Amino acid sequence: KVTLDNITKRFGDFEALKRVSLEIADKEFMALLGPSGSGKSTLLYTIAGIYKPTSGRIYFDDRDVTDVPPKDRNVGLVFQNWALYPHMKVFDNIAFPLELRKVPKDEISKKVKKVAEMLHIENLLDRYPWQLSGGQQQRVAIARALVKEPDVLLLDEPLSNLDALLRLEVRAELKRLQKELGITAVYVTHDQAEALAMADRIAVIRGGEILQVGDPDEVYYKPKYRFVGGFLGSPP
Ligand code: ATP
Ligand code: MG
Repeated sequence: KVTLDNITKRFGDFEALKRVSLEIADKEFMALLGPSGSGKSTLLYTIAGIYKPTSGRIYFDDRDVTDVPPKDRNVGLVFQNWALYPHMKVFDNIAFPLELRKVPKDEISKKVKKVAEMLHIENLLDRYPWQLSGGQQQRVAIARALVKEPDVLLLDEPLSNLDALLRLEVRAELKRLQKELGITAVYVTHDQAEALAMADRIAVIRGGEILQVGDPDEVYYKPKYRFVGGFLGSPP
């Protein structure tokens, strides 16, 4: 479980997050939906520990991680521009988080193969990132985030660089894996269809404030604010 308790994040005078409180249950797929500049990435980076909140606390289960550096939080990150290490083969890209942790070689090899099979990239392990298509690169990035069995998987518009068809395909696969493995996921998007299709619950954010949290039906059919209904394209 991830708990955000009254999180505020300021950059100088600007308040990017305003008293955000949110609970993400174990194995839940939470979509964070909002327009550009609403604070989605800031919130994700705060959960990851890349940004330290100006005030408020963050808990992973009962552990207060507010002052814990990113490397000591067990989070998996997948970003929009999925930077793989260009000089490393796919195998080494995926293995990297385990190398950092000094996991024994044979165990690394097993884990990389397992996660590669789950994402159907087991035949690509010997290639370099530039020898892959965009969708394949994205799968490698997801594999790299999953290989260390993170407490929480944080995804920041991971599919936005893919064409419509591939997007649907990787979306379905990601969702299947998340359920199969029982992963807790926070998925940032400004695509309402994606949020509605994938999420157990959706948190709608605007101007650094969470306006509404609920399951897709609830936020779609019972928007609490005109903005929420408008953004989701709810029926009038
Ligand atoms: P997008 O959909 O465009 O990615 P977002 O919802 O992810 O938008 P954020 O990147 O979280 O938005 O930014 C929220 C606000 O905080 C923006 O106004 C942005 O300019 C500001 N901001 C984000 N990071 C910083 C920073 N490091 N320094 C100053 N301002 C920042
Ligand atoms: Mg962003």
